Amino acid sequence: MKPAVVKDRIFKTAPTVGLIVAAALIADYVVNVLVLRNLGAFTPFTTLIIATVVATPLAYWLTSQRMRLEQMRDDLSASVEAQRRAIEQYREADRLYRLLGDNLTDHVALWSPKGERIYSSPSIERITGYTHEEFMALPPQAMVSEADFKRVQGVIRGLEAGGPPVHADYESTRKDGRVIWLESSYSRLGDGSNILLVTSRDITQRKQLEIDIAKALELAEAASAAKSDFLANMTHELRTPLTAIIGFAEVLRRSRNLNKTAARHVGHILDASNTLLSVVNDVLDFSRLEAGGLELDPGPFDPAAMASSCAALVEERAVAKGLKVQVRAASNVAPMNLDGPRLSQVLLNFLSNAVKFTAHGSITVALTQTIDGDQAVLRGEVIDTGIGIAAENREAIFDRFSQADAAVSRRFGGTGLGLAISRRIIERMEGQIGVDSAEGQGSTFWFEVRGPLAELPAPEAEEVSLLDAEAGVRLLLVEDNAVNRELIRTMLEPFGIGVETANDGVAGVEAMRQGQFDLVLMDVQMPVMDGLTATREIRAMEGARGAATPIVAMTANVLPEQIATCLAAGMDDHLGKPINPTKLLETVARWSGRVHAA
Ligand code: ADP
Repeated sequence: MKPAVVKDRIFKTAPTVGLIVAAALIADYVVNVLVLRNLGAFTPFTTLIIATVVATPLAYWLTSQRMRLEQMRDDLSASVEAQRRAIEQYREADRLYRLLGDNLTDHVALWSPKGERIYSSPSIERITGYTHEEFMALPPQAMVSEADFKRVQGVIRGLEAGGPPVHADYESTRKDGRVIWLESSYSRLGDGSNILLVTSRDITQRKQLEIDIAKALELAEAASAAKSDFLANMTHELRTPLTAIIGFAEVLRRSRNLNKTAARHVGHILDASNTLLSVVNDVLDFSRLEAGGLELDPGPFDPAAMASSCAALVEERAVAKGLKVQVRAASNVAPMNLDGPRLSQVLLNFLSNAVKFTAHGSITVALTQTIDGDQAVLRGEVIDTGIGIAAENREAIFDRFSQADAAVSRRFGGTGLGLAISRRIIERMEGQIGVDSAEGQGSTFWFEVRGPLAELPAPEAEEVSLLDAEAGVRLLLVEDNAVNRELIRTMLEPFGIGVETANDGVAGVEAMRQGQFDLVLMDVQMPVMDGLTATREIRAMEGARGAATPIVAMTANVLPEQIATCLAAGMDDHLGKPINPTKLLETVARWSGRVHAA
């Protein structure tokens, strides 16, 4: 027992002890004096003994009983007070829950484990149009389709008591027949009651928005596909007449019968049509890049050789403007495994722009390479002393159709596609591209790409050279366009190549049945029978005979997948339109077997 309690008891016992001593005194007197008449025995000592032996323990016991009762009374009143406070709190919480339930915009429902509705918030009327009473009387599947009902039942069956809520969207029919979308969250209470809690909200607006967005996306995709198709068709249609223009201009340029003025005019036709061809190529390239269809074709290539040949391609134009072109390739630049032609395209675009936007001074191609194990980082730069680019335009010029300013585009021409294409190519190679420039002083366009180092294959022992005049090659040209037939004939006949023509696939197959040829040049898109079908028929026919004549596709369809289709149909090679006369002769030389050592 604690000292304080003992002290308290002693203190509270004292008056009782006093009373009991008095009672002991009276008892002593009555017993010894009045009853026993022994006055000598009535002494304070006997009184004290009686008081001590009887009264003190009795008093102590009575006092502790009283104190216990007091304590019980205190405890009871504290517990009554606590209960009163709890009831008050409960009433407040109940009022708040009712307020919440009555004013919720979402619907809250409780279902017993047996599947009976226990509670439904009044918001059901706003959401479904049914009054609370009507709704409570409805069967659970009344407002949803059978399929949705089954799906939701599946969701509910999978719930674990106290587990995370699971969501489901479904269509629901209101009392007025209008169909709305509801999103519900289902959970089983983890308090042992196993009650199912369902909160639902009307998401019709959001769903409608989603449906509208999906429709808009579908339309946009269809529009984009239509645009790509249109561009592919347009470029094909443009390439076909360009083939004739460039081809005949080339034939004329090589002719010795032209006077000086006529030769200059032919040169202009060639320059202009080559420019037009590069615009057509850019548009085709860009639409392919936009559609995400740029496939890289990595292979071993020599960056230094690439820099020199790109510089050589623009040299004539640069020199005509009085500009000096130089190539500075670091001596350690080693061959790499990258898509060389695509990288050349970027470098050539930088170089063409440099020539276009520089009036005085020089253009430098600089190449450096840092080796990192078996990988290398190649940096290419084209440095010019031209008009430069204002800081605010340096980022935008890499966007499609973007030019530094409208006046520049009028003064210099161009489509604004070259740098957009270059950026996409470099990004596809996971490299970086950019420009440093000082307005009025010049620009440095650069790219950096990483790739593995590579060994260049040994140069082929036999170099293909042009055919000599008495080659005696027999060639079958299957082509529906009369101008193109005449062009190819004009290009080839001076080299002793006998050209027989067929106007479509059927005529081509027939010609092959009748005669013997060293080589077939086959257009792809033709009326009556296309070049792919004709090739398959020729190959089937030859299968029986056992001899295969080389067939070279000659088409404006230059996409990689189109080339692959030609090869799959049984063709051996591919020549893109417009036909380059040198390439045509090389290809005829290679496939006709009339190859000469260089
Ligand atoms: P294009 O040259 O056909 O207009 P590009 O995409 O190649 O398209 O170039 C976009 C724009 O960037 C050009 O119109 C020009 O304003 C600017 N630009 C490109 N190269 C240079 C350069 N070397 N010097 C100055 N401006 C340039």
